[in-house]
Amino acid sequence: MDVTEKRMNKKERAKERREKRREEISLLRTIPYSDHQRWWSAKTIAVVTGANRGIGFEIARQLALHGLTVILTARDIAVGEEAARVLREGGLKVVFHQLDIVDHESIDSFCAWVKEKYGGIDVLINNAGISYNTGSDNSVEFAEKVIKTNYVGTKNMTKAAIPLMRPSAEGARVVLVSSRLGRLNGRRNRIGDVALRQQLQDVESLSEDLIDTTMNKFLEQVKDGSWISGGWPQNNTDYSLSKLAVNAYARLTARILSEKPEGERIYINCCCPGWVKTAMTGWAGLTSPEEGADTPAWLALLPNQSISGKFFAERREINF
Ligand code: NDP
Repeated sequence: MDVTEKRMNKKERAKERREKRREEISLLRTIPYSDHQRWWSAKTIAVVTGANRGIGFEIARQLALHGLTVILTARDIAVGEEAARVLREGGLKVVFHQLDIVDHESIDSFCAWVKEKYGGIDVLINNAGISYNTGSDNSVEFAEKVIKTNYVGTKNMTKAAIPLMRPSAEGARVVLVSSRLGRLNGRRNRIGDVALRQQLQDVESLSEDLIDTTMNKFLEQVKDGSWISGGWPQNNTDYSLSKLAVNAYARLTARILSEKPEGERIYINCCCPGWVKTAMTGWAGLTSPEEGADTPAWLALLPNQSISGKFFAERREINF
């Protein structure tokens, strides 16, 4: 067997494995949660960011179908209200509120509203995100905006929401919708600097400062044009780095939150929805938004939750 044949076989086997897992998950989704697994009720408040379309809209729909009260948020009031109305017309308990994760005032007024109206949040799904590249394009024209939204916006929203997370025996949950493209130790598309990778890998010494400094270094190199030889991930570089930062932030926050006592636990995990046919991918991809929303929604609802600081895809833990 020559090299090309071997490669084809490998690709075909990977495709078969993917298909098999998709079938398994669609079967798993038909199994209802039993009464003792359902730790939530209609009083459980789930907030989803960037939920007017795509994966976020589907996460909102799936959580509401499971019986939670969902606060569907979007930066644009008209489209957000319309999306929530569609779900309410389907009999679901969905409320809209404006939320732009890059706007401090918007985050503050959302948090004040949710505290006043519901007394806090039980589940936060940080789904909002942007990407300006499709296919094999790798422009960094909007790198600053991508990192500001995907990493800084997600971080600021998480920081603002954590004090509002309601204490409960089951623990509050934060899910960060990230991407495999941001893997630290993937075989391809990783940071070339081994020492930096090791620093970002070591959860005990990981700090917000290290993550921010790494992002700032990249952005400085974008400005002076030296980023191409900077040893950054080669595929969708700005987006991959923004998600690498999200993943690192999840691990760091999980470590910090692990000091909370029983009854006040907050679990934070990130996940990759797969390659999903949405506006972000120009409707290319392997799966539907419904399938893409499955792992984030499943992760938010895990019964007997005690997992924190981990990365998931297709309802399984994967490596960072
Ligand atoms: P879409 O582009 O369809 O949806 C993105 C959502 O995020 C939109 O609702 C958008 O709002 C919102 N958004 C963007 N910026 C902000 C902001 N500043 N404040 C609030 N909301 C904002 O993309 P997807 O549904 O595909 O992506 C959802 C998440 O999944 C993202 O985090 C993405 O990175 C991640 N992901 C997607 C993959 C895929 O293959 N599709 C693969 C891996 C990860 P608006 O309509 O106003 O622009």
